[in-house]
Amino acid sequence: MSIMYKSTRSKTEKVTASQAILKGLADDGGLFVPETIPALDIPLETLSSLSYQETAYEVMKLFLGDFTEEELKACIQGAYDEKFDTEEIAPLVKKDGAFYLELFHGKTIAFKDMALSILPYLMTTSARKNGVKNEIVILTATSGDTGKAALAGFADVPGTSIIVFYPKNGVSPIQEKQMVTQKGKNTNVVGIIGNFDDAQTGVKQMFNSRELAERMNEKGYQFSSANSINIGRLVPQIVYYVYAYGQLLKQREITCGEAIHVVVPTGNFGNILAAYYAKNMGLPIDMLFCASNENKVLFDFFKTGKYDRKREFILTSSPSMDILISSNLERLIYRIAGEDAEKTRELMEALSAQGEYEITPEMKNKLECFQGGFATESETAETIRKVYETTDYIMDTHTAVASKVYYEKAAASGKKTVVASTASPYKFTRSVMDAIDKKKYDSMTDFALVDELNHLSGVKVPEAIEEIRTAPVLHDTVCDKSEMQATVEKILGL
Ligand SMILES: *Cc1c(COP(=O)(O)O)cnc(C)c1O
Repeated sequence: MSIMYKSTRSKTEKVTASQAILKGLADDGGLFVPETIPALDIPLETLSSLSYQETAYEVMKLFLGDFTEEELKACIQGAYDEKFDTEEIAPLVKKDGAFYLELFHGKTIAFKDMALSILPYLMTTSARKNGVKNEIVILTATSGDTGKAALAGFADVPGTSIIVFYPKNGVSPIQEKQMVTQKGKNTNVVGIIGNFDDAQTGVKQMFNSRELAERMNEKGYQFSSANSINIGRLVPQIVYYVYAYGQLLKQREITCGEAIHVVVPTGNFGNILAAYYAKNMGLPIDMLFCASNENKVLFDFFKTGKYDRKREFILTSSPSMDILISSNLERLIYRIAGEDAEKTRELMEALSAQGEYEITPEMKNKLECFQGGFATESETAETIRKVYETTDYIMDTHTAVASKVYYEKAAASGKKTVVASTASPYKFTRSVMDAIDKKKYDSMTDFALVDELNHLSGVKVPEAIEEIRTAPVLHDTVCDKSEMQATVEKILGL
């Protein structure tokens, strides 16, 4: 029996995996979740001998029940190929006792590539399976990395087009340059005057507008989402935790069945939720450490059981985690509420109406395997410098937030710990070099810093950076956060 998906906010709607991927968000505004989380059906000891692609098949086939073996394998082969600059796809690197799971070897050098390389394949396969004739319009809000990874994934994919909204003043210069230089006839990039939460809210409103959906349908369009709420992104992210466990076995760092910890630098709660799903599938994970930057909504939530977004939005050196509304947390809430859609809806409505909600003590008890941690701006910089000085390894600012939490909470536990390393330091060169020696590097240009980073780390400058040195700006649309829908209508000619 193939697994079906249901909404976190009502009992009525059940859809197949391919339908859930096409729709992105359920009609009632909820997120799709699998009816049950399937158990891994291969023995753990075999993981050490599986390639990344083989691991992906073993994990994804359990969630994407209505994909044939042939379809799923074609998606995996298409996604995880030479686009990645290493055969391992997600290498596990040991430094100073921690195991950094490098998720940034794809086209846009951030972990979003892990899922967004395969999403276009999953999406077009889903469209074919469901007889969709409309052009699929991918509508996405980005805090910096999703946008570029989605643009790169969907550029010139037949039957699709993509519109990306990003906070005009809330992404790194390199992130912005990467997006506005994107090629592809079907790509659109729009800066908004507002922050990431504004962009995400605007996108959600468009998704939820029936009136807009009808007008689009008349013109042969329908929306789908490449945001991390799409299960087509969540499922591929489970893969690398399973793969990391296999790598630890292969490197004889653990024995079969030995529990590990995981530390994840968190924003929208997608990456760490994938680790939680992996744990629920039977992967021996003990604790999940949720690492936040100064926007530490999640740290406070895990500590107190109260989610409160009513606070100042802080722009940090880890912009992809500058988020106050972590959308994917809804899936965890649903689970700890005992899959109670009514309760979940009530809490989510409180969040949008009052800006806060509080979970019950029973729900909080089910969060035992989570622990929050956070790093301030100076702690983040200090961690980059300290790890560089002791090991020569240079990490990016997001990874450094997780690394700080690793040293603080996990290092002394005696358990082997995987730290999700979510971006190449080349993507956040200025912040990284400032952390190492601000005085020395302050006056240099971004690209001079790239060469300096290359000199210090000995790590080859990635293609993604070389490309944008000279690439022309192809997108310059900017609009107010209140004009997002008007902009979409103009782009699509509605
Ligand atoms: C998106 C992103 C994160 C946050 O991941 P979530 O799944 O949104 O929690 C962390 N680091 C980097 C570099 C990212 O791009």
